[in-house]
Amino acid sequence: MSNTNLSWRVCIYLGRGLCSNCGDTVKKALSVRVHRCDHCGYTVDGDENATRNMLQRALVSLFQNKMLSYAYDCFFS
Ligand SMILES: [Zn+2]
Repeated sequence: MSNTNLSWRVCIYLGRGLCSNCGDTVKKALSVRVHRCDHCGYTVDGDENATRNMLQRALVSLFQNKMLSYAYDCFFS
């Protein structure tokens, strides 16, 4: 297994525990393939839920990096 493949699997595992719709923690066994949130009722394939969480985190990280870059340019350019 390559490092990229391993990293991808770790990200999917970590993203499984959160509801991508409301952000609440959802505990479920790895064998459970469907994400069902008791808090908001959101139901979706477990891998899709994990992928949505990863995408949201990536977008937030990208936005924060852009904002930091902009702030740095304002103060130090
Ligand atoms: Zn939810």
